[in-house]
Amino acid sequence: MHGSLELKAYAKVNLGLDVIRRREDGYHEIKMVMQTVKLYDQLTLSRNDSGQIRINTNLPFLPVNKKNLVYRAIDLIREEYGIRDGVEVKLTKHIPVAAGMAGGSTDAAAAFIGMNQLFHLNIRQETLLDYGVSLGADIPYCIIRGTALSEGIGEILTPLPPIPNCWFLIVKPAFSISTKYVYEHLVLTEDTLHPDIDGMVEAIRRGDLAGITGLMGNVLEDVAIKDYPQIGQIKKEMTARGALNALMSGSGSTVFGIFTDKDLAFEASRFFKLQPGIRQVNVVRPFNKNPRGFVAAEEGNVEN
Ligand code: ATP
Repeated sequence: MHGSLELKAYAKVNLGLDVIRRREDGYHEIKMVMQTVKLYDQLTLSRNDSGQIRINTNLPFLPVNKKNLVYRAIDLIREEYGIRDGVEVKLTKHIPVAAGMAGGSTDAAAAFIGMNQLFHLNIRQETLLDYGVSLGADIPYCIIRGTALSEGIGEILTPLPPIPNCWFLIVKPAFSISTKYVYEHLVLTEDTLHPDIDGMVEAIRRGDLAGITGLMGNVLEDVAIKDYPQIGQIKKEMTARGALNALMSGSGSTVFGIFTDKDLAFEASRFFKLQPGIRQVNVVRPFNKNPRGFVAAEEGNVEN
């Protein structure tokens, strides 16, 4: 053994998500407000002499080969820097999979950061961001984290000030939605209601939580609700139970609500835990950037 590292890979939600247009290369040009939340996967990276990448995970259905983004991130760094040592990864998933919370992307971001530290490579952040976008559009954001505006295909990032403190109630229904399906079924017309992302950025800069929640919107939501009306029902239940507003995150199926009252957030979470067709419920705080860096080894998978 040549040392190991423990990392937390935090999930994101989209406070706002707009799709501007479909590019000729098939990518969508987006404009999103991203927010990291304190729900995270845990990764332990260890160096060894095996010369191989090995991933162990608590979710038996997850791929552990090149199909896993963690594998691909480690492989890219090993190739790029001529590393012969093997790397063993223990990946404990707590972020729901295929849920619109960037679970795979944030694990890959943690793997890039972890490899940089474990092998003392001194890779500059801009270079890590380039490696990130080569594997997935959301990975650069998952490297910088916090509150940010994401544009282009996700590679143009503008860090924003932290949002005022609040509680996020996160509800993942039992069904999952494929990101590909939602984007393919999105039809942009002149009548499409686009969320006011610029207005939300201004509200964030003002520190105006009501202004932020008042402008929450996701252009993908209608596509998903058409096939999965439960998403609309969860949103209604959340606002009826005290959320300032509620929205589907990314391409779904996760729905989140923003609360200022901790008791109401936890009461609503107890309600959703008893409902049929719900897979996972969490109440978490927003995550703001930790200037001390990424490595931490605290207990539990949810921090309040
Ligand atoms: P996004 O918000 O970026 O759309 P998501 O939450 O919808 O992401 P993920 O949880 O990242 O989706 O998983 C999507 C697919 O990626 C899964 O079906 C899974 O097989 C694959 N995958 C590859 N690596 C991972 C990983 N480390 N964790 C979870 N899924 C992974």
